[in-house]
Amino acid sequence: MLTIKNLTAHYGAAQALFGIDMEIEAGQTVALVGANGAGKSTLLKCVMGLVRPSGGEILLEGKSVTGSSPARMVRHGLALSPEGREVFAQLSVFENLQLGAIPLSLAKAEETRRMDEVFARFPKLRERRQQLAGTLSGGEQQMLAMGRALMASPRLLLLDEPSLGLAPRITDEIFSIIHQLSRSGTTILIVEQNAARALSASDTAYLLAGGKIVEQGKSRDLLLDPALRAAFLGAASQDNPSASRLGAAGLTNIRLEKLPMHTNFMPSFNSGEELEAHQLRGLQWTIRHAFEGSPAYRAKLEAAGVTPESIQSLDDLRRLPFTTTDDLRDGYPFPLKSVPFEQLVRVHASSGTTGKRKVLCYTQKDLDDWTDMFARCYQSAGITPLDRVQIAVGYGVWTAGMGFQLGCEKVGALAVPVGPGNIDMHIQFLLDFQSTVFCSTASMALLMAEEIHKRGIADKIAVRKIIYGSERSSRSMRKKISELFGGAELFDITGLTELYGPGAGIECSDHDCIHYWGDYYLMEILDPETLAPMPEGEWGEMVITTLCKEGSPLIRYRTRDITRIIPGPCTCGSIMPRHSRIKGRSDDTIKFRGVNIYPSSIDTILSAVPGLGSEYQIHLTRGDGGRDHLRLVVERAEGVAAGRGPELIHEAGHQIKRQLMVTVELELVDYGSLPRSDRKIQRVFDSRIQDEIV
Ligand code: ZN
Repeated sequence: MLTIKNLTAHYGAAQALFGIDMEIEAGQTVALVGANGAGKSTLLKCVMGLVRPSGGEILLEGKSVTGSSPARMVRHGLALSPEGREVFAQLSVFENLQLGAIPLSLAKAEETRRMDEVFARFPKLRERRQQLAGTLSGGEQQMLAMGRALMASPRLLLLDEPSLGLAPRITDEIFSIIHQLSRSGTTILIVEQNAARALSASDTAYLLAGGKIVEQGKSRDLLLDPALRAAFLGAASQDNPSASRLGAAGLTNIRLEKLPMHTNFMPSFNSGEELEAHQLRGLQWTIRHAFEGSPAYRAKLEAAGVTPESIQSLDDLRRLPFTTTDDLRDGYPFPLKSVPFEQLVRVHASSGTTGKRKVLCYTQKDLDDWTDMFARCYQSAGITPLDRVQIAVGYGVWTAGMGFQLGCEKVGALAVPVGPGNIDMHIQFLLDFQSTVFCSTASMALLMAEEIHKRGIADKIAVRKIIYGSERSSRSMRKKISELFGGAELFDITGLTELYGPGAGIECSDHDCIHYWGDYYLMEILDPETLAPMPEGEWGEMVITTLCKEGSPLIRYRTRDITRIIPGPCTCGSIMPRHSRIKGRSDDTIKFRGVNIYPSSIDTILSAVPGLGSEYQIHLTRGDGGRDHLRLVVERAEGVAAGRGPELIHEAGHQIKRQLMVTVELELVDYGSLPRSDRKIQRVFDSRIQDEIV
């Protein structure tokens, strides 16, 4: 949209800008960061026509506007909210706003419409519309300066030091408005001394020092750059020449409120070979650990003729016996436990009928590893300590809530642990806390998205990323969630309770695949029928072997999830291996509102209610709201009177709720009315997502 080429500016004989080159794309928020006197305001004034450049060119959509007057710039679609606000103290709020549109000679009706828009964005200005601007607080004057610029309905909004001299709470408010403006499609060039705020609020950034651009790039990368951080913090040293360079260039007095990241959670491997060497060491350790620590594993390994010493290469994986959900159930209550009890610090369990849940044991190291894996997921999705993460997944014996919580705190972001359901509280916190990240299942995200749409508050919330997991999602569902959330970016997170929990991998920032943490576990893709390896790139069952899990290690654990490995390097540059989104499951498990239900467990529950017959059907549908419904059609037992219907429905519903933690709709039908077959009877009718899974 805006191109600046080799721009120079002088104040008398003193040169203020030295050959500036810049590019601002439509819809982007671009930050211009630098210390006092670096030339930031001069550059902004050149763009706005307030200072005439001494050389170079300013192009707006390819046409030169170099040296145009400020009024002409406003007509070109530019507007400036100047440093120090520069509101007219003796004029009212209303009159100050009118001034913003003067160069456009608007019709009265249009002026009123735009003023209403400004008031909708800044309700405080509406309250004080007749008050003299000189009597407003600093924050209100800043809102007025921005409101006045918005009266011109600019395509490019220039904001000069919007947070200067404001209290942190007011700065938060101003930045959340900037964020909303950016989401509504306004292109923004923001000049700020507060580097952390500007970088976290923008897409790309330019660092200016001594009238020159000394660094430029994606804001997120700059925020994480250790040399720049050191420079911001004034910690330039000989060990860090880049920081010295920037320090000398005058960047050291830029404020950084909070360290961008406690640490880097990305793996330290630089090549596939290094990763494989690490994986082999992990595999050797795991087999020895399981062999020595778990009688069940020892028996299986011995039966397969495997000793720990015989693991010499990653190909030896193929010789190892499989582990299945049956092993987990048979070993209840502490299956696969491979360390003494005194080393365990926690258990988690997945859903299942009473007494047959899958229970997994954790040592402190397991929890630390899980936390780091999850922190890596957040970091991959670009979450920083400046984010506020609203968590809408279940807390308790499930792994979900705990994982989202631990990882969030580890990256230093603010966790808002709400849990699932509770839509009103979620909406209130999205508005009041201005949460920037929302974590949930795909169905919950859709429910929230529709609620946000219904209440018309998409432009009043600040969610820019949604991290969701635990169930399949179609392309159209993702699109709808993103749109109704005001353009939020979606990240599919993977994981299963057996493998620590969620956080085992996350959708790439290029959104084509899932990167999985190959330094924590190995993934094989096998034919679910023959258990032979699938050719590279083909769909099959995901089978997992952990590399450092102590409490309950997994050896060739059959997840039943269907996916495929994507060969070759990723466009994002990560060397972590990748797979496609999970397509479905190889067995008949029903995934319903984030809970795994085995049809056999429904069978067990129904058969324990006297008066019910043996035949039933499970109908799964997805409502317009994206909410899944499970309707259970059950026959009464032979000879049971129809009048007992309500009592039987109540009892069966109660037992299902108690044992499976889900609410289902029940319908009783006459004995003999459901179809019979001498072959396998189809009991499950799933008419949910039918469109393409990527
Ligand atoms: Zn990638």
